Amino acid sequence: CEAARETRAPVVRHLARGTTPPDRASLGRDLRDAIGKGELFLQYQPKLHLRRQVVSGVEALIRWRHPVRGLVMPGDFIALAEESQDIVDLTVWTIQQVIKDQRVLAARGHDIPVFVNISGVLLSDARFVRRACALIQSSGVKIGFEITETAVIRDPQSAIGHLKRFADIGIVIAIDDYGAGLSSLAYLKQLPASELKIDKLFVTQLTSSNRDPLIVRSTIDLAHAMEMEVVAEGVETASALALLSVMGCDVAQGFLISRPIDLPILLEFLARDQARVFVSAPAKLLNL
Ligand code: C2E
Ligand code: MG
Ligand code: MG
Ligand code: MG
Repeated sequence: CEAARETRAPVVRHLARGTTPPDRASLGRDLRDAIGKGELFLQYQPKLHLRRQVVSGVEALIRWRHPVRGLVMPGDFIALAEESQDIVDLTVWTIQQVIKDQRVLAARGHDIPVFVNISGVLLSDARFVRRACALIQSSGVKIGFEITETAVIRDPQSAIGHLKRFADIGIVIAIDDYGAGLSSLAYLKQLPASELKIDKLFVTQLTSSNRDPLIVRSTIDLAHAMEMEVVAEGVETASALALLSVMGCDVAQGFLISRPIDLPILLEFLARDQARVFVSAPAKLLNL
């Protein structure tokens, strides 16, 4: 009976998520136990502040070391976790892990915020919001949340209220994947966000496209007018980084600077003070 239900699953959905329907069902069952079994782990990707020439924060990205399938990326299991409510435990685990790791960073002199991606469904979950606030407030560590605008559109009143509670206790709010979803300026102006992350869709081909630079530049101006810092994600080339600097982009993130890496590698990266290398190289490229 379950197999029959699986074969009727809509084609578009399993194509979009990169797994076949039986795959999805069994992955979903495995995910339930993955947290307890210690199969989930975090990697960190630095956020490079261009003017200050420092790593101003890092983003936590979840991965799953599956005993049979090997490494499973979030694109293949976050949606499953959202459908099954496992997203609550997964995110609470992530926040706990990030609190531990941020303490390690701070002890090494890198007291920078660690950003956690928060699924939209959680923004209207009052129990989750209370748990997250309690964990973070009692820890006293610097944490940021990355949320997408689509998350807010689902249930704007409760989402905006909860985001204000997060901001009130010092959590930095970043709007993720800006421009890729159903962007609504009406919500944008109400969000207590201090960072706007331009989706990599507009950044990866920045220097080979005619329109992307126009979109990026106007988004930077819009964000600055609202007193937000702009983060470009998906920075893969020195020329893109150079153009972003000239356009006044505040923060860059992407494979050029660093792929998502394990905590020990992040500590090495920060100790080598890599930030300056990336900021000065493109400046030379442009003769600045
Ligand atoms: P995101 O938050 O927008 O994260 C950016 C994604 O782009 C990451 O993929 C990252 O590895 C990738 N990326 C970074 N730099 C570059 C680049 O220069 N070029 C290209 N092409 N890609 C780059 P990843 O780790 O597979 O994560 C995918 C998405 O899964 C994330 O998108 C986020 O929405 C979600 N996610 C990851 N971890 C969590 C989590 O703990 N909780 C929740 N709810 N979602 C998560
Ligand atoms: Mg993110
Ligand atoms: Mg993003
Ligand atoms: Mg994304």
